[in-house]
Amino acid sequence: MSSDDPLATYRSKRAFDRTPEPAGRPPDPPPPYPLPTQHARRFVVQKHDARRLHYDFRLESDGVLVSWAVPKGPAYDPKVKRLAVHVEDHPLDYEDFEGVIPDAQYGAGTVVVWDRGTYRNLTNGGGRPVAISDAVANGHVSVWLDGEKLRGGWALTRTSREPGGKEQWIMVKRADEHADPGRDVEAEQPDSVLTGRSNDEVGEDRGSRTWTRERATWAPPMLAELVTLHHHGDPAGWQYERKLDGLRCVAVRNDGDVELWSRNHLSYNARFPHLAAAVARLPADTFSIDGEIVAYDGTRTSFGLLQDPGARAAVVLCAFDLLELLGRKTTSLPLTDRQALLRQLIASAGPDIQVVEAIEGRPAELLERACAAGWEGIIAKRVDAAYHPGRSPEWRKLKCSASQELVIGGWTDPGGARLGFGALLVGYYDDGRLRYAGKVGTGFDEATLRSLHAQLIAREQPDSPFADAIAEKAAHWSRPELVAAVKFSEWTRDGRLRHPSFQGLRPDKAAGDVRREPPA
Ligand code: MN
Repeated sequence: MSSDDPLATYRSKRAFDRTPEPAGRPPDPPPPYPLPTQHARRFVVQKHDARRLHYDFRLESDGVLVSWAVPKGPAYDPKVKRLAVHVEDHPLDYEDFEGVIPDAQYGAGTVVVWDRGTYRNLTNGGGRPVAISDAVANGHVSVWLDGEKLRGGWALTRTSREPGGKEQWIMVKRADEHADPGRDVEAEQPDSVLTGRSNDEVGEDRGSRTWTRERATWAPPMLAELVTLHHHGDPAGWQYERKLDGLRCVAVRNDGDVELWSRNHLSYNARFPHLAAAVARLPADTFSIDGEIVAYDGTRTSFGLLQDPGARAAVVLCAFDLLELLGRKTTSLPLTDRQALLRQLIASAGPDIQVVEAIEGRPAELLERACAAGWEGIIAKRVDAAYHPGRSPEWRKLKCSASQELVIGGWTDPGGARLGFGALLVGYYDDGRLRYAGKVGTGFDEATLRSLHAQLIAREQPDSPFADAIAEKAAHWSRPELVAAVKFSEWTRDGRLRHPSFQGLRPDKAAGDVRREPPA
């Protein structure tokens, strides 16, 4: 052992290209004046799960950590003598080493910082203070520890000194106010004071304490308020997306369990199994994403095609928000952060799941382009807003043509060669009353006429559900349960739809929620 380099033995035992342990900084120059013996210096106890579990007790002294390996660790009972094997000095920067020493390396195993703090050297000889280095050479060390787990006085005394072998010492608690014969500090406080990890967790390289993932759950989605371009203006801090004419869907996954939920909490799994499978293939196993199920006919989307199980359209989940990820709610993050996480989750998804990208430009130009492209409109979202279930002023929809959901309250008989029915009688709720909005007589193909007629007959009732008197010949009435998506040019002055056209049924919307948009 070189007397020039106190760490020569430490370094000779280790291959620093293979172990993460520190090689040690060059020793600090000696202080220009002698430090008082009582000066507080650092101590550390590392719990080292090597060939045998032990506790490495280290005292800062003269630029190194003087070290003992204590198989059972320090005891709080003054009657208990714990074996402490004096080992080579360690570098000062070993004090916060926590990690895995690889197999086949010296001391292979896991290390956690089990305790640390400061100590005072209480060693004296003949009433005079003795420096730690002299105390170690003389075979007796007395210290006062101020750690997180170890507090009070301990004494270390050499019991055997084998030539060429390791020195055996014993470590004993002083009988002071901190002594506690009943306390088993190693069992009561087994983990790292730095990270809270156990040795096993360090071995599995887990970043922190294990936490249990909360299950991802469904909540009602965030909804936009309908506004006009004039009302919206061109405010700062908003982003714009295409308004999709599909079915709103919150996809919730817990491990292999996937649910595609509608906005009123009905499952779409049976209807779109390929989308459930695509969600199950995403790389994270616990999350909730918000989006819209859309049928693409080339580059156009079609709500009608979604209703038709035989259509050749590509049905895609267009995702635009992330509500939960890996057991954590993300709804309180700003929109931009939620969408950045969403893009990472969806990056490798393949064609069945797409991310809705923001579109750049002034809202007036964006709405004009959207309408020219045949879109329904655009959605405006505040970039700094959290996600709130339900209708929120922080999301707005700007529509190209008027369209909205309406409640079917009756139908008329068909004329001529037409099958099923002639027109739907539709309305909306206002103050608990179903107000009549007019007749919808176009937008049906033969299959729709037939299936919708059957659904109406199943709901037929003798009296009109509408609050308004309706002078309509050959009218039949139905329980107001079915909701239709209807496109039209405008509301007339007397509150009727102009040029209405049926777009499809909305089984995902509750009839009782249907209101006139915008309010009359
Ligand atoms: Mn050790």
